[in-house]
Amino acid sequence: MTQTIGFIGLGNMGGGMAANLAAKGFAVRAFDLSADALARAVAAGCVAAGSAAEAAAGADAVVTMLPAGAHVASVYRESLFAGARAGALLIDCSTIDVATARQVAGEAADKGFAAVDAPVSGGIAAANAGTLTFMVGGSDAAFSRAQPILAAMGKAVIHAGDSGAGQAAKVANNMLLGASMVATAEAFLLAQKLGLDAQRFFDIASVSSGQCWSMTSYCPLPGVGPETPADRDYHGGFAAALMLKDLRLSQQAAADVGADTPMGARATELYEAFAAAGQGGLDFSAIIKALKQG
Ligand code: NAD
Repeated sequence: MTQTIGFIGLGNMGGGMAANLAAKGFAVRAFDLSADALARAVAAGCVAAGSAAEAAAGADAVVTMLPAGAHVASVYRESLFAGARAGALLIDCSTIDVATARQVAGEAADKGFAAVDAPVSGGIAAANAGTLTFMVGGSDAAFSRAQPILAAMGKAVIHAGDSGAGQAAKVANNMLLGASMVATAEAFLLAQKLGLDAQRFFDIASVSSGQCWSMTSYCPLPGVGPETPADRDYHGGFAAALMLKDLRLSQQAAADVGADTPMGARATELYEAFAAAGQGGLDFSAIIKALKQG
């Protein structure tokens, strides 16, 4: 039987994700505050709903892809808890703070819903192509229900643990990514100042112990390694402002549990300064430009 999915939040990421669900045969009832985003979802095969509650009404599962924790909490409390049918599965794919993820999942359980946090790795291109990676927090039973829905939008669906574990994996991963990008950028700049050719350094470090994804798959220098946003003047890719959002979430989570994350803290400061200088729209690898100047 065709499963009905309510989908709330049809922006850069949610638009492609909802389109993939519709293309894979789910009946998708979509809602966004933006009429343009809603119209694009309808053109991609979704049915427009007049509100979040209307999108959720009677649906087997409701997917949210919203900017931050406050949006998720308000949509859950003001629309889904009253509007969704008893026992429906609530899947939040937004990147939000671990504490809010656990809070709303607990409230959902109290009201008789199953809930998972399922943030994604992969940007807009992966959302459009249906090749996202989902890291999922929730019970075994909730994960089993979410898995086929998420698999229709991604290439990997991994059960991270209980509620909040998906967000924990996401912030820890992206803190590592932000810090490793800064470290990769400064290593290239040091090598160059020491008179080394950048491509030659790439050839050496990418098969040596300094190898990491930020270097081999996403090199911050144009013309070195595979094609990356650096080759497009740092346009497209993953915006520095979104990296800053994730780094801030990592620092909030670290403070909550008393974890010492000095490299994450320094990366957060550097991306804060970069965004304050008006560069937040550039790909996050453009941080090399700030280090070059400094
Ligand atoms: P976006 O701003 O493009 O989309 C968010 C959408 O939510 C907007 O269309 C907005 O109108 C809608 N919205 C906000 N409040 C709403 C409400 N109350 N009811 C209905 N709709 C509402 O953001 P995005 O880039 O699609 O990111 C969504 C989430 O995915 C964020 O949490 C982000 O951190 C995460 N994420 C983004 C990327 C990326 O590359 N863009 C990658 C991984 C994860």
